[in-house]
Amino acid sequence: MADRVKINTESLLNIELPFIKVPYEQLRRLNKLCQKHIERDGAYLHTALDKSLTPTEARLADLDAIIARAAGLQVKLTDLHAQEASYVASSRARLDYLQHVADMATADDPRWREYTQGRLVRMTIDYLLRKNCVAAARLLAQETGLEALVDLALFDEMQRIEAGLARGSCAEGLQWCSENRSALKKIKSRLEFFLRLQEYIELIKQRKYMDAHAYARKWLVLWRDEHMQEIEHAMGLLACPVATTTCRLYQAMLAPEQWQVLRDEFRANCYALHSMAEQAPLVLTLQAGLTALKTPHCGHPGDIHVNCPVCRTQTLGTLAQRLPQAQHVNSTLVCRVTGRVMDDNNPPMVLPNGFVYSRDALQELAQNGDDGPITCPRTGAVFRLSQARKVFVT
Ligand SMILES: [Zn+2]
Repeated sequence: MADRVKINTESLLNIELPFIKVPYEQLRRLNKLCQKHIERDGAYLHTALDKSLTPTEARLADLDAIIARAAGLQVKLTDLHAQEASYVASSRARLDYLQHVADMATADDPRWREYTQGRLVRMTIDYLLRKNCVAAARLLAQETGLEALVDLALFDEMQRIEAGLARGSCAEGLQWCSENRSALKKIKSRLEFFLRLQEYIELIKQRKYMDAHAYARKWLVLWRDEHMQEIEHAMGLLACPVATTTCRLYQAMLAPEQWQVLRDEFRANCYALHSMAEQAPLVLTLQAGLTALKTPHCGHPGDIHVNCPVCRTQTLGTLAQRLPQAQHVNSTLVCRVTGRVMDDNNPPMVLPNGFVYSRDALQELAQNGDDGPITCPRTGAVFRLSQARKVFVT
């Protein structure tokens, strides 16, 4: 009985780790950004004010610049503070939500049903966001009141950076790497190197060889311990005829598809940074269910089961293609017409041509009155209902 099921709170909270991690990481990044602005602008203001102690005409002009810089800092910090407030609110809402989960002991708690339904909506929104259906995700979040519990802001930011990469700009991606440098180092990210490498390759494509050489000396050599081989290949590009090279390695490095590779790499890094699975949780959850239902006959044209999601090869079945089959100790007979289980109340019946259907199915197929006729769905042969015989499975 479902209502006696004890809830494994620890496992549940482990599954929900990204739920808390996302606003936390955003807060951490924002905090670093504030710190950076304060340190940089603060140092400037401090030095400039020291120099402007004598009120000469020239120094008054300096004072105008100082005031403008201080006003700029105030605007930046006000904007960051507003973002910070929204992440703090989101973290608080998520912690309160998880507190309800931690308080539940068994699945008969009315909050359990509310939680599982909310989780399904959250997973659906996450799936839509991952597929770049942002408007649909936003609408669903608004209608269900779950805006604080889903990662709309994170995906907005991801889209902004990916849009930069789509138009051939690494600037947004490099800025993101700079804001998350220590966290990216912990997950052994290679993204910043690949972005630098791409900027170098773009200079090569424009035949700006001197600029490319200077760029490599400034940025690529920083990665020589980890990426010496890639740097050697990159330096080979300096001597390669860009338009006519037949070397597959150089052709691949110069190909426009590298921008898509960078977008995939960025997304993988962003998911890893926030402890999010690379595969959408909705897909993983569906696959767990599909593998339990999968049989060796699923998807075979002659064995399509009316109610089996794995047999739906155009929809859910695609998710089950690479999944293993579940091992069933006991078989269950299921009618191919109705999709209902065949048992004592709905026994299997065999037609004279040897094909078996449930009694319910034959009664539904009987077109006129109690005795048919019945058209066999597989062969098209026509029989009377009275010609069907009950099958005894031993
Ligand atoms: Zn099936």
